[in-house]
Amino acid sequence: MAAILVAGLGRSGLAVAEKLVAEQRTFETYDDRAETVPSGAAAAGRRHWHDATAVDWSALEEVVVSPGLALTHPLIVAAQAAGVPVISELEFAYRRCRGTIVAVTGSNGKSTTVSMIAHLLAAGGREVRLGGNIGTAFAAIVDDRDDVVYVIEVSSFQLEHVKEFQPHIGVLLNVVADHLDRHGDLATYRAAKEQLFARQNSAHVALAPAELLENLPGEARRLALPNRDDTLTDHALRLTGLGYFAYNLNPLLAGPNRNNALFACAVVRELGLRAEAIRAGLASFEGLTHRMERLGHWEERLWINDSKATNVHAAQAGIDAQAGKYVLILGGSDKGERFDGLKLAQNPPQHIVAYGETAPKICADLARFNPVRVDAFDAACFEAHRLAQPGEVVLLSPACASFDQFQSFAHRGDRFKQLFAEAVAGSRESR
Ligand code: ADP
Repeated sequence: MAAILVAGLGRSGLAVAEKLVAEQRTFETYDDRAETVPSGAAAAGRRHWHDATAVDWSALEEVVVSPGLALTHPLIVAAQAAGVPVISELEFAYRRCRGTIVAVTGSNGKSTTVSMIAHLLAAGGREVRLGGNIGTAFAAIVDDRDDVVYVIEVSSFQLEHVKEFQPHIGVLLNVVADHLDRHGDLATYRAAKEQLFARQNSAHVALAPAELLENLPGEARRLALPNRDDTLTDHALRLTGLGYFAYNLNPLLAGPNRNNALFACAVVRELGLRAEAIRAGLASFEGLTHRMERLGHWEERLWINDSKATNVHAAQAGIDAQAGKYVLILGGSDKGERFDGLKLAQNPPQHIVAYGETAPKICADLARFNPVRVDAFDAACFEAHRLAQPGEVVLLSPACASFDQFQSFAHRGDRFKQLFAEAVAGSRESR
């Protein structure tokens, strides 16, 4: 009997296997790591492959790939040579979905925006499930209920191998314009354009900034954001049919989060949410850890953890969100970006502390701000705190990946939170 091959036994591969077990379908598994003994539902596979050249394609009808497998992966090349169709986990889940799908992609702000959309919908009493790139695989949350709204964060990798996927509401938040010539962002843009929007029909909606919306394929109704009526004023979000939502509803409504919120509000308006539910939802939104996360005050300095700002564009967001005085911690591992691209003129930091592998480059690129160089992360954080005056912010919005001193941006952010918590606890004890 023909079987499905589940390729890549990470989170999404396991979710696919679970679905197949529930559906009593025959499947096989593939994972590069020979030492990976399939666990959980994957163990129910009929055969387990580890060598792409050894796979027996004669009894396989389809391959479901996890986003971890690149287009050039030998397994995908072999499947194509054997004429076996390849679909992504996103497509697999889509084919089983009866509910409404909101799909969000873009260079920065995806996780924040999908979380906000899901939170607003929940505040409006909707049955909502959040998944995709943000954590839980779409395949793990999908079922055959038709009254559920699925809010899915989609990365460019997940858009590879998509065939029928068409979200009811598709959102392209931004594409890092400065780097449009760089392969990564251009690829993201192309994938989003072609795979997220191309099959949308006139019952669907596409939301994007005007300059990106123009180029989108597909038949969806298009809404540019911001536009004359749905926009950011000095003090509030304003949306036709909903009214004003003041930024002071929530300290997180600062910097580019205002733009993220504008998209979120426009999405839930499409789904019929009322202004009161949206207002309550905006006020109670707690944000995500490591994204402009306000840890609290130590010695009258507010520490903000924006460790997820792993590139210059994202760090710009954290910086632009500062209305008052702040000391900026930059640094980490080198992605080849230049730091003089940071726009600091409008509200320059009181000081910059540069740490890690990129510290010399930061000191050179931003020499006019006289950055203080402190190589070790912990010491850099304390130096930033020492340089900050009472009432100022200590902002970790590092503009670099974390891998020189940490395993991930989350690991770096957790360390920052730990330093803060210990410092606060220490000063309480010494009182
Ligand atoms: P993603 O899921 O796309 O990586 P996140 O919501 O996790 O995005 O935010 C990542 C980083 O990008 C955060 O550090 C934040 O400061 C920054 N950011 C958030 N929204 C935007 C935006 N609309 N434009 C630019 N940067 C943003």
